[in-house]
Amino acid sequence: MKKWVYFFGVGKAEGDGTWREVLGGKGAGLAEMTRIGLPVPAGFTISTEACDYYYKNGKKFPPELKKQLVDNVAKLEKVTKKKLGDPKAPLLVSVRSGSARSMPGMMETILNLGLNDRSVQGLAGSTKNERFAYDAYRRFVQMYSTVVMEMPKEDLEHRLRAMKERVGVKEDTAVPASGWKELVAEYKAYFKQKTGQDFPDDPMEQLWGAIGAVFGSWMAEKAVTYRRVEKITGLLGTAVNVVQMVYGNTGENSGTGVCFTRNPSTGEKEFYGDYLVNAQGEDVVAGIRTPMHLKEMAKAMPKVYGQLEKVRVRLEKHYRDMQDMEFTVEEGTLYMLQTRTGKRTPTAAFRMGVDMADEKLITKEEAIQRIQPADIERLFYPVIDAKVDRKSLTGKIITHGIDAVPGAAVGKVVFSAHDAESWAAKGEKVVLVRRETSPEDVGGMAVAQGILTATGGKTSHAAVVARGWGKCCIVGAEKLQIDYAAKTMTAGGKTVKEGEWITLDGGEGVVYEGDMPLVVPSLPKSYEILMKWADGVRRLGVRTNADTPQDARKAREFGAEGIGLCRTEHMFFTDFEHPEKSHDRQRAIQEMILADTKEARVKALDKLLPFQRRDFIGIFKAMDGFPVTIRLIDPPLHEFVPHERKKQEELAKELHLDVEVVAQRVRQLHESNPMLGHRGCRLSITYPEILEMQVRAIIEAALECKKQGVKVLPEIMHPLTLDRKEMQILEQATRKVADELIKKSGTKLEYLVGTMIELPRAALLAAEIAEVAEFFSFGTNDLTQTTMGLSRDDAGRFLPDYVDEKKAGVFTADPFQSLDIKGVGMLMRWGIERGRSTRPKLKVGICGEHGGDADSVKFCHEIGMDYVSSSPFRVPISRLAAAQAVIEDKAKAKNK
Ligand code: PEP
Ligand code: MG
Repeated sequence: MKKWVYFFGVGKAEGDGTWREVLGGKGAGLAEMTRIGLPVPAGFTISTEACDYYYKNGKKFPPELKKQLVDNVAKLEKVTKKKLGDPKAPLLVSVRSGSARSMPGMMETILNLGLNDRSVQGLAGSTKNERFAYDAYRRFVQMYSTVVMEMPKEDLEHRLRAMKERVGVKEDTAVPASGWKELVAEYKAYFKQKTGQDFPDDPMEQLWGAIGAVFGSWMAEKAVTYRRVEKITGLLGTAVNVVQMVYGNTGENSGTGVCFTRNPSTGEKEFYGDYLVNAQGEDVVAGIRTPMHLKEMAKAMPKVYGQLEKVRVRLEKHYRDMQDMEFTVEEGTLYMLQTRTGKRTPTAAFRMGVDMADEKLITKEEAIQRIQPADIERLFYPVIDAKVDRKSLTGKIITHGIDAVPGAAVGKVVFSAHDAESWAAKGEKVVLVRRETSPEDVGGMAVAQGILTATGGKTSHAAVVARGWGKCCIVGAEKLQIDYAAKTMTAGGKTVKEGEWITLDGGEGVVYEGDMPLVVPSLPKSYEILMKWADGVRRLGVRTNADTPQDARKAREFGAEGIGLCRTEHMFFTDFEHPEKSHDRQRAIQEMILADTKEARVKALDKLLPFQRRDFIGIFKAMDGFPVTIRLIDPPLHEFVPHERKKQEELAKELHLDVEVVAQRVRQLHESNPMLGHRGCRLSITYPEILEMQVRAIIEAALECKKQGVKVLPEIMHPLTLDRKEMQILEQATRKVADELIKKSGTKLEYLVGTMIELPRAALLAAEIAEVAEFFSFGTNDLTQTTMGLSRDDAGRFLPDYVDEKKAGVFTADPFQSLDIKGVGMLMRWGIERGRSTRPKLKVGICGEHGGDADSVKFCHEIGMDYVSSSPFRVPISRLAAAQAVIEDKAKAKNK
């Protein structure tokens, strides 16, 4: 018989910490903590496989589950010596979700399950606290109504507020037992009115309802959104953890907290966390009250704190990673409710990785494996420019809050996640301001520059989610008055309306009015150390896509070892070193396009030559001996001429042409499918003089640099080729110009001539093309477009449906972001194999956007490329992913 339920308690557990796929992260953590003897309340876990079964079978539970549930409840009753629904010693349980990958706050939880009119008296009797028992009861009815029956939260909250007014108290803690009793009756009456049924009295019925609700929450909008944003795929579902309740809200000697074995913001080795006295379960995470720091707890409850500190040391050693733990103190006794590998900022990830490797807790390779490549980008957190006058800054302070996630953010204020999403879709930068955030808000949080909440601590929902993303976040700005209806926020005598700019300083926890200039800080020491380790491990070379000397220099700082793609046409419109000369360049290229004879074209190209030569000299110098791949003109010519009448008139005047001639030429250049039209090397086939000018500029620049003692390695690249004969014409034309110049100079200069592989035909015929090309560079932007028949410019309109789990879910990621390994990857693998069959030493790289995407880089490693090339800021991602690919290879070989 298939096992669906796994028990843990009194030092024994079915399963352990490695069973995450089946027990979920929470279940596996509880099992493991039980096994190693930590104080964990007993319980059992219904597996993720049961959730998978539930969805595959029209939302029906597996038939064997019933008996297994009854058996496990009986077992739990035995070890706890309490009984579900018992009028004297009732067993109460919590029912919580937990999938194999942590999704903080995205799914449902029900506490105090097992209470009814009889067992509540048992609870009141055994705790000698009637007030507490009825508070627990009303919390249960409230949670059950909203979570299981999906009744509106506000309807219940409203009754709670009305009751408090009637009783004449402000704080929940001041409500007497009679108040809670009344409220339970009211909730139940409302339940009946809404659902037509009585509130379920039978604990087993309650339990089945709760299990169904937890399974249901797996496919709730917010959970699906979170998985999409976090790119979590391939999980079976959520497990359900049914655990004996312990209470943090029985009085001043009780409480509940969340803590981390190291500081999740900075990575420092210090015990870090929040504790809330006399509070239950989710109060800390929900951020309803602002909690105390662990240091204060150490003073208030030294004995329990000492125990907790021991657990901290034990768990970190055991898991060999930073742990995020939840605990409850019931009448001075410590209970561990959860442990999981903690989320951390990118800075903290580097610091912990290097520290733990130094402490010999983990190996250097493990430290490298633990960095999420995409997180590196977030290391380059912006901060408010130090040049901003501090005095004027002080005058702009709106309010202070808790510095939950560092970095600074600037944006226009919006007050709902929905507005954040719609404004961001229009290209606006927004800061999301909420009283508190809830999992429904993740979509808006993801697109916001920063997040500000009026309540909550460092472990509140907003803080945890934002930290995972490395997004600037301030919480607990308690002086902030937010008026959702009027769309304003007020503090310190300042009122900010929707759409007005604010600046958050997440490092200091300060909110300013206005949009401050931000700068990117220098990197932590541990970053340099760890990246050096990664460079020592990787096999792939890492180059950059850079079109200007400035970008090339930046990329060198990020560790680029050459240029994999210099798009020459980007220099046609802008002179990056002498912007005032941009106009001359534009006119020269436009004159070339408008020319109707070869002579006229050559004349215009001659004007462009010195500009290009100067650019190339700058780039060669910046790369100082590293290879530089320069691609000849690629886009269709219509992109370089004006389409509006007024601009055409200006151009005609400057070039002494009739405006009709200009307009006529622009019309001629129009194509229905420009991406599949007269572009790429096809331009050089039609107008060889363009190729000649560009090759001349490259070789003359290289010779000039050589003369100045700069080592140069030019690689001349033809885009969009599709045939051996075509490539041969280009190669011969290139060599003719280059060799003549080199010969004339009397020096030696090595250079390569190669091609991009951007069309399926080129990949298919790679063996032939490699006969005349010395290198291949996969242009996977176009190769994705042409293989999949998806327009790289317009597919964004419908691609989201293709990656949405709830809609088509055809792809797990946008194929323009992360390589379609199955299809496009098959062509790449074939292209490399076939290319090297005729030219064994064929140099192969990639220069599409995928060169900066970690999964794609790993694939490039697997198929034997020589290097990847990515935009400057993503060079470190490529370096790290390349190292991880080697480490993963080793692990695979070992497992074989
Ligand atoms: C490509 O197509 O992948 C490429 C790098 O060229 P571009 O993006 O300039 O078309
Ligand atoms: Mg291309």
